[in-house]
Order: sequence, then structure tokens, then C-alpha cells
Amino acid sequence: MSATTTFAPSCTPSHTDTQPLPVLGREVLVPLVTGGEAPYAALDYAASAPALQRVWDDVAAYAPYYGSVHRGAGHLSQLSTELYEQSRRTVAEFLGCREGDQVVFTRATTDSLNLLASVLPQGTSVFVFETEHHASLLPWRAHEVTYLDAPRSPEQAVATLESALRSAPAGPKLVCVTGASNVTGEVWPVRELARAAHRHGARLVLDAAQLAPHRPVSLAGLEADWVALSGHKLYAPFGAGVLAGRADWLRTAEPYLAGGGASRRVTRGPDGSVAVEWQHNEARHEAGSPNVIGAYAIASACRALTEAGFGRLIAREEQLLARLRAGLAGLPEVRILSLFGQDADRVGVLSFVVEGWNSSHFAAALSAEYGIGVRDGLFCAHPLLRTLLGQQGDTPGECGAPEAAPGELPQPSAGGTPTLNA
Ligand code: PLP
Repeated sequence: MSATTTFAPSCTPSHTDTQPLPVLGREVLVPLVTGGEAPYAALDYAASAPALQRVWDDVAAYAPYYGSVHRGAGHLSQLSTELYEQSRRTVAEFLGCREGDQVVFTRATTDSLNLLASVLPQGTSVFVFETEHHASLLPWRAHEVTYLDAPRSPEQAVATLESALRSAPAGPKLVCVTGASNVTGEVWPVRELARAAHRHGARLVLDAAQLAPHRPVSLAGLEADWVALSGHKLYAPFGAGVLAGRADWLRTAEPYLAGGGASRRVTRGPDGSVAVEWQHNEARHEAGSPNVIGAYAIASACRALTEAGFGRLIAREEQLLARLRAGLAGLPEVRILSLFGQDADRVGVLSFVVEGWNSSHFAAALSAEYGIGVRDGLFCAHPLLRTLLGQQGDTPGECGAPEAAPGELPQPSAGGTPTLNA
């Protein structure tokens, strides 16, 4: 029997300034209620970004060769194992991991943060701003959590954290902070918060779901202890994410999931009981057959972003954001939401209120009449929306769903959740 695999992925990033920026998958035409069709403008990337064409191409090139990882002596199994581990190394490089850091593949940011919550030592105190996305606000509830009020500037964020940590009980402490808000797009002072945390013996996990697609994220550079991200916001498809960072708590805690892959040795004792020796590396928290295509797709996206160069991506994004902000500024009924003020450093994400309109009707109208996709509702950040909007932010509903029926032309109407996110 001979193996004839010719698949040879290129994994070395080679950045050139003249290369075109990465492109998204094929343009989609959508029907309009007013007749005809229009190219769909997906502006809801903060929810999920379309995968890059380069990522689809890489995955398509690998697809015929994939096999189970860490489980077989067969040629394709070995190839897949090598590509899976190579993907881990690519992600580690992309995230500026330090010697000894681990990269665990998960399902997405929510899964990564719940994994971290499950490995916290007994008695850990957790500190989190009320402004967090629910994925970074809620996983810690089995621990002692201090919820910090929304700061109105990056400096105030650091001062608020410092003051809370000063009166924190002894014992392990964790701070969880989002690098860029999915609501305002504002960038948080991650390095300063990490330094403040470390001054008080706390560790910091960065929710980089929104930051990583827009800015370089380096664990070493930002001095963070862990970082979490989602493939589907990083221009890779759904289904895979990352938790990367310090190994100690990960290595010693019970596995996030119990099962094959996480276990090194399982034995039956004389009394009939079963004893398990768990893995000490990343596999400890990756029980079951891993999402090898998802990990490979994330690594492909990391390479594409690195090759494009964040400097060029940021410059292009700033142009587009300035155009959107200037356009919205000319509309008196539109109010852009901000916590840190209009001059704050922000990624290409913003939310706005259109006075007099229910946001789900407005979003449905943008889609039905113009083929523009935006998100509406409370963006899985209810306490933040309450702070930004007052009582208007109290409308129930998890993340907002269009109220107009398909094909129905939405009408202006007040009431309901007022916010749109592009
Ligand atoms: N954190 C932030 C800042 C987000 O914007 C999101 C999703 O919108 C998440 C976490 C959760 O990501 P996922 O749904 O991929 O787990």
C-alpha cells in the first residue's frame, strides 16, 4: 500500500505591501421588496464575518485529505495530526504566545471563557465590568464575582479596577475584559488593565472576539494571561475558537469535558472502580474528536491577516469607518452610541439609535429595501445597553429579532429595542 497524498499546505506567512487585501467569499445577490435584486452588503460582521476566499480555498484544498487526529497510524490521520498541531503553532504565533503558553481549540469565545471558568482554583474572586458581552459577563457565576460599573474613559476603567482590587480578599483573582466592544467598537486599555491586575496579584483574560479581527493581539505585548477568540469573527467559518495562555491552571484542573483524547491512562482498580490519568497538555481540555477543519481554517485566517499586515487593514478600516460616521452625522435622527466619547480609539464596529424607529423594523427595512444587513436589539450586552440608553435599554429579548414578516415592507414605529449595530 502506498500513500500518494500530494497536499502540501504553505504555512509560512510572507507579507508584501503590494499584495491585495484579503477578499471575502463570493458576492451574494438578494431580492428586494421593491423589485429586482441587489448585492448583499453584510454589515453585521461583529456578529459573524464572512470567511475569506483564501480560507475557503485552503479548506477545500485540505478537505480530500482530512482524517481523525491523534488516533490513527494511517497516512491521512498522520497528515491531519500534523496539520492540526501546525495550526496550533500558527495560532500561537499570531497571538504572541510566550514559552509554555497553551493553545486550546474550542468551539468559540463563549466556550473558551466557560472553559477557563471551569478551571479556576477554588475560591477565585472574579472582577468584570458590567459593560461586557454576556459571553464574558456570565461564565463566572459559580465563583465570587464583583461587577464593576461602566467607566466613562479608559483611564477611569483602570482606576475602577485598581480600586476594586485594592479591597479584594486574599486568594486567586481573575479579571475578564473585552478588548473591543461589540456595541461601541471602543478599544479598552488592555495592557494597563493587565498591569493593574498583576500589581494586585490578579490575572487577566482578554476577550478578543472583536479585537483580534481588527488589531494585532499579542499575549506577550498586552501582558495578558489568557486570550479567547472565535473563528467565525476572524474571517473563518463557524465552529472553532481558541483559548490561549498560561498553562498552570489549565494543566492541573479537571478536564472541561471528560472523554477520549483528554485521558492518558484509564485503569480499573481491584475494587472495580475506574481511575484516570489526564493529559497535561492542550489535549486535557479537547476531549472527543476535535474540529480539525475548524482549527485549520482559523490558522488560515491568521496567516491571511498576517500577510495582509494589520497596518494596512487598520488604515482601510479607518477610511470606511470615517465614511460611515460622516454619513450618519448628517442625519439628525441618528445617535451613535459611545461610552468613552467620540474621540475614543475604536475598531470598525458601531451602534446607533434612529429616533422614532423601532430598530428591528429599521433593520428589516435596510435589508428588504437596500440589501444591507445590520444587527438590531441589545447585542447580548444588556447591562451596557441599559447604561447607554437608560430605560430604552430595558426592552426584553436576548439579541433582537426582526419583527417584520418576510416580504412585508417595514414601517416606522417608535417603541421596542432602539439600537442598530454595523
Ligand atoms: N465577546 C464578544 C465581545 C462578542 O462580541 C461575542 C459575540 O458577539 C462573544 C464574546 C461571543 O462569541 P461567540 O458567540 O463566538 O462565542
